[in-house]
Amino acid sequence: MTAKTAAIRNRLWIGNEWADAEGGRTFATVNPATEETIAQVAEGDAADIDRAVAAARAAFRDDAWRRINPHERARLLWKLADLVDANADELGLLETRDNGKPYLEARHADVPIAAQVFRYYAGLADKVQGDTIPVPGPFLNYTLREPVGVVGAIVPWNFPLTLAAWKVAPALACGNTVVLKPAEQTPLTALRLGELAAEAGLPPGVLNVVPGFGETAGAALVRHAGVDTITFTGSTEVGRIIMREAAETLKKVSLELGGKSPNIVFADADLDVAVQGASMGVFYGKGEVCAAGSRILVERAVHDEFLDALKGLAAEARVGDPMAPTTRLGAIVSGEQLDRVMGYVEAGRRDGANLVAGGERVKVKGRGNFVTATVFSDVDPTMTIAREEIFGPVAAVIPFDDVDDAVAKANDSLYGLAAGVWTRDIGKAHRLAAEIEAGTVWVNTYHQSAPGSPFGGYKESGFGRDLGFQSALEKYTHLKSVWVALDR
Ligand code: ADP
Repeated sequence: MTAKTAAIRNRLWIGNEWADAEGGRTFATVNPATEETIAQVAEGDAADIDRAVAAARAAFRDDAWRRINPHERARLLWKLADLVDANADELGLLETRDNGKPYLEARHADVPIAAQVFRYYAGLADKVQGDTIPVPGPFLNYTLREPVGVVGAIVPWNFPLTLAAWKVAPALACGNTVVLKPAEQTPLTALRLGELAAEAGLPPGVLNVVPGFGETAGAALVRHAGVDTITFTGSTEVGRIIMREAAETLKKVSLELGGKSPNIVFADADLDVAVQGASMGVFYGKGEVCAAGSRILVERAVHDEFLDALKGLAAEARVGDPMAPTTRLGAIVSGEQLDRVMGYVEAGRRDGANLVAGGERVKVKGRGNFVTATVFSDVDPTMTIAREEIFGPVAAVIPFDDVDDAVAKANDSLYGLAAGVWTRDIGKAHRLAAEIEAGTVWVNTYHQSAPGSPFGGYKESGFGRDLGFQSALEKYTHLKSVWVALDR
């Protein structure tokens, strides 16, 4: 079942060839579960971004891609999906070693989801079409959906392959070319994806992968005049920088940023199901999930019963070796990130919240960056742990009184990425779905996702949508209006 080996690709992937960084520099990518260096990876910088953008620009102009039959573009993306599936053991292993997440999750969720996203967008490739518009006078007016050009895709470390697929697949389906900048913590699956894309038959330069740091490689991609749009997933802080930097070249940007998503449990919910959903909502992926349901709002009448059950589930969420099938919480991606999480645990204590489960930094086999599933009760909505994104397995449980209070507390956040509602009352569920300021609302479920359903934020969780059909067209195509006089 478990892949034992994975070949490491550790150089830049430009024009379907491996290359060293121009400056010859490398950086270590580390397995957070063992603290061992997996590989030294070529460290891309401005000069390398330049090369990758030139390759992407040339590929965009080249007939091999520009004039490719849309059915053929679809076939290539479908083939890439098959190759992702065929190499799922290896990709899962690379992801687990780089990110620290359980192999079961990487192999059976992240990788198949990435493949499915390529398959979904293979279906879009021959449906990129415009409209005919009724206009006054003797004119024919129609619209064309044209690729934007070179897409700069910058992705984070929490779902490295999946989020790369979320951006690369629709961009390619619409006929663009891509320079992908994976996170410095997790470059390995993106590099392998580049290679698989070539194996699928994508022409040189259509997908380029440049690992490197955000402040150097990432920033160079954002500033580059040869890049037409930036699609970014990451922190709100970096999102702000990107938007500012992109203004210089007036690049179109889309930003999927942080969250502090409310998961709202009403007294009339099926409590067993709700507590399972709340636990999964905040602890899945070690809580390193932008949509993590990290603010659990619970109606007062069931608060104590709910909290007891959640405490029990937190205690059962086994922290351990990511390769062990019993592990639910793998390693936090880096020592630095674990320090941040522990800082928030400290802040919760200091602010007077009640630590009822977890909050302990642990080692597995004497090493690694691990923390136990953590629950704070008696959290006041003004506390730091109720307001800031922690990006770790830390739940803040906050009581509420009634529907109005639930809505007010849910919306009392700078963020607006996602929300969950647990109730058996269908009217209440739809009212909440309408009134919550978030890009996704889950009712009696959480973390549900499918390639056809758009995902993105309100407020400081960003703008633009990943996934979806129409949203991909909006993001990765220009809309051109053509007028033809019919009487001359
Ligand atoms: P996180 O807090 O999850 O690490 P970041 O927003 O720091 O998220 O990183 C997400 C991605 O953005 C990574 O690929 C990172 O290298 C990149 N990045 C960080 N800073 C910048 C920047 N100034 N310009 C462009 N990309 C950046």
